[in-house]
Amino acid sequence: MPADSSVNFSVLHRICKLVVLLCLLHIAVTVVFYVRSFDFRVAFVQNQQSNNNITPKSQNNKPVVSPGLEPAKEEKVLEQPVKKLEKCPETSPLLVGPLRVEFNIPVSLELVKKENPNVQPGGRFKPKDCEALQKVAIIIPFRNREEHLKYWLYYLHPILQRQQLDYGIYVINQDGDETFNRAKLLNIGYAEALKEYDYNCFVFSDVDLIPMDDRNTYKCFSQPRHLSVSMDKFGFRLPYNQYFGGVSSLSKEQYLKINGFPNNYWGWGGEDDDIYNRVASKGMSISRPTGEIGKCRMIRHNRDKMNDPNPQRFNRIAHTRETMYKDGINSLKYQVLSIQKLDLFTTITVDVGKP
Ligand code: BGC
Repeated sequence: MPADSSVNFSVLHRICKLVVLLCLLHIAVTVVFYVRSFDFRVAFVQNQQSNNNITPKSQNNKPVVSPGLEPAKEEKVLEQPVKKLEKCPETSPLLVGPLRVEFNIPVSLELVKKENPNVQPGGRFKPKDCEALQKVAIIIPFRNREEHLKYWLYYLHPILQRQQLDYGIYVINQDGDETFNRAKLLNIGYAEALKEYDYNCFVFSDVDLIPMDDRNTYKCFSQPRHLSVSMDKFGFRLPYNQYFGGVSSLSKEQYLKINGFPNNYWGWGGEDDDIYNRVASKGMSISRPTGEIGKCRMIRHNRDKMNDPNPQRFNRIAHTRETMYKDGINSLKYQVLSIQKLDLFTTITVDVGKP
């Protein structure tokens, strides 16, 4: 073989080697780019799916998923409908019937709080396992009766919870020491409670009356309800057929039908008879539990100062049908001095004016 042809062959050989090396390099670079672009595509798809979980929603509030993309696992969990509570039964299965009620045991607000851990600030509660049938505001007219209020809370909180009510306790405290005005305080309780929650039933209770049977449910009925029908003070019977004092309940609708309660009964007596007259004049009747279920105890006490019997009450009661349209919730005027949401109740101190 001539010398220059062997040189040519060697050059050709080197060129070939270089070409092969370049090809390999090209393949390597292509593979690296391909793999990297694949990683990016996967990341893009994942990102799209997780965004779908939080942002775009269609009109029916379901997440919008790009066609061809399977929803992420968590999304399936989110899509499950929120379990709606079933309505509570008409008669609570938690009721126990007759109760022992005594006022010689020591009671403190701390004890009541400890024994009722599910009561929320302001004295609010609703059952956990079912949707309560009624939203009940319990209104207590009040002045200087802290000792009685403790017993009331001690006995009533457990009863009301067993009755499976969605309830709130409002203590309407008359400021100052002018003559007491029970019915006006009840009107104020109605108005103030409604500012806080969409109550549809109102129970009006004296602070010293405790039911002796939890089947006496503190709720509303198709007619205004009288709940304290057999009080120990009256020998466990009604003092007279039209008696509507102590504890009563009216739905929002029933309350508005009678224009609420009178605002001008200052001192003791007559305002409950006026409310009875309003109810009767509107063609409604009084619903009551049986004498057995409606038993209740009153905490004995001396008559409060500035709550002497109202001498004008007989005259006022005689004219309810004429006065009720201009005196009631439509003419209520008062000033709120303070609202305190305490652990077991809400207390609203008000200036009700004077006679
Ligand atoms: C009064 C009522 C009171 C009832 C029972 C009546 O004479 O007018 O306000 O609730 O007696 O004590």
